[in-house]
Amino acid sequence: MPVVQNRAPVYVALLALALAVALVAAWTPLGTQIDRIAYDWMFRLYQPQPWQTQSILLAIDEPSLSAFGGIPGLRTALAEGLERIAPAAPKAVAVDVLLADVTALDAPLETAFAHVPNLILACDLLPNGGWEDPIPAFRRSATAVGHIHTDLDADAVSRDLPLEKAAGRDRRWALALEAFRLSRGGAPILESPQELEVAGVIIPAARDTGRAMRIRYVPPGMPPIPRVSLKQLHDDPSLARQFAGKVVFAGVTSQTGARDRWVTPYSSIPVPGLEINANAFETLAQQRFLTDAPSWAVLLLAVSLAAAAGLTFRFLAGWPANLVAFAILFVAHTAPYVFFTRGVVLPFAPPVSAAWLTLIAAAVWQHWIVRGRLDRSEAERVRYQHAMQFVTHEMRTPLTAIQGSSELMERYSMSEERRKQIAQLIHSESKRLGRMIEIFLNVERLSAGDAELKRESFTALELVSACIDRVRPLAERKQIQVTLGAIPDAPLEGDRELMEYAVYNLLTNAIKYSPPSTEVTAFGHRDGKRITISVQDQGMGMDRTEVRRIFQKFYRTAKAEQSGEAGTGIGLSIVEQIVARHGGGITVESQPGKGSCFTLELPVGAATSSHARTH
Ligand code: ADP
Repeated sequence: MPVVQNRAPVYVALLALALAVALVAAWTPLGTQIDRIAYDWMFRLYQPQPWQTQSILLAIDEPSLSAFGGIPGLRTALAEGLERIAPAAPKAVAVDVLLADVTALDAPLETAFAHVPNLILACDLLPNGGWEDPIPAFRRSATAVGHIHTDLDADAVSRDLPLEKAAGRDRRWALALEAFRLSRGGAPILESPQELEVAGVIIPAARDTGRAMRIRYVPPGMPPIPRVSLKQLHDDPSLARQFAGKVVFAGVTSQTGARDRWVTPYSSIPVPGLEINANAFETLAQQRFLTDAPSWAVLLLAVSLAAAAGLTFRFLAGWPANLVAFAILFVAHTAPYVFFTRGVVLPFAPPVSAAWLTLIAAAVWQHWIVRGRLDRSEAERVRYQHAMQFVTHEMRTPLTAIQGSSELMERYSMSEERRKQIAQLIHSESKRLGRMIEIFLNVERLSAGDAELKRESFTALELVSACIDRVRPLAERKQIQVTLGAIPDAPLEGDRELMEYAVYNLLTNAIKYSPPSTEVTAFGHRDGKRITISVQDQGMGMDRTEVRRIFQKFYRTAKAEQSGEAGTGIGLSIVEQIVARHGGGITVESQPGKGSCFTLELPVGAATSSHARTH
């Protein structure tokens, strides 16, 4: 069916639209939030190979704080702890404590810092721009100063760390990155737009993301990063051995003391920033990076899913289509996880929304097409059924006459004159039958749109008076008077037989649907290039809703059904087609109980505008 084929571009456009909507939806805050939830979920689901941690926490926890006199005693306590671990020769010591103000108790810490190898001190961004740096006395001993600024996602979960942070032109690397660099012999940090490189390790951290690096937290199934508190170290100095060759992260972990505590994908309870920095260091040290899938890959996946959805419902139906659709959804939902296990972060919302929306669009569209096809074939079936009823009904009368007459001739001997009469009747009835068959075939072709109309010339008057002659016997039976009013003798052109069928139909209807002893009038007008032929009766009439429906095939009004007059409801639909093919139209004025007036409007002298056309 050409109609269906022409819809292919529309189908593709619909899928493209669904895909576009899906991708835009994936960009919205809701889409991003779904991506984050999925990321955390995958994070918890995937158990990476355990590794040997290279860092250790020197924790200033609650017991340490209370043992050393709270925050005021912090510097002294830290000094003592560092002095104890210094002989164990840790690889580097990152102090995750902001030491920006001078106090009276700084001397011991200053001395301790001088004893520590590869010391990294912390700085943070000030709200007004600029850096909150350690005081010069401390800074003197530091090999590096690293920032401890965290960029949290909108939901306040710490997933990544900006390895680079700048206040104006003053740029700092992250504390964890500095610790990593110093633990690798103080290698320089090499920069490219997409990556950083330290001691041969390529760190995927693009400049345009602020060098954001996703933190691969030590999974719960693995021994955590070891931790020794200042108090434990104070009570048991032998613990200092644990710090040998490790990268130390020293800082506050106590609930009350730590000002920075964040939620991670693993824990809904906030963990201290110290731990987050140590985990960032582990990510670097283990090179267990999680890189973002490039946008083109995300787009390619979404487009492939949309194409698969489109093809599925284009070429499959029923349960195979549903099965494949299910498989597509499965791929869309699991692809991010499969990528995750390979260290690539693929956002969840784009493929999933693309798969769902395009599948729904494709399924609904195909369902609609199939429904349309079913409806059409059902309509065709009904049309043929009714057409058959029409043929059998219309042909019964002449057939009965022919049968009866031939029987008469066979059974009885009769005068020559009577025999001639009957033979004539048989002849005229069979001619009528033949005409009917031809009309029927014409009508069928007419409705199929490929009928070639004859091109004959005749006048409106000839047409109408011929029809009136034919309906007279019918009218007489109901004592209905058929009057021929003024009809312009204007030329018409077209298929006379079909036009006669049309006018004849209007006249028979007028007679059929009028009570006895009324009048039916046929009249016409000429108005420039148009000519009208009207048939007016004083019959049952119709209301507006009925008038609107009478040109539908097989529609009959309730009154017509009750009238006892034979009919199929197909005549007017044929009349309408015939008139349309002659370049004209039909209008009806009617009032219940008052009668109806059907008017054909035709072009003068030609009309068969479409006769040469085959549609
Ligand atoms: P049929 O006469 O075989 O039922 P038609 O298609 O010719 O089929 O007409 C459709 C219906 O329109 C009729 O059944 C009747 O209800 C209504 N109708 C047509 N002509 C008239 C008329 N002159 N007066 C009232 N009703 C009419």
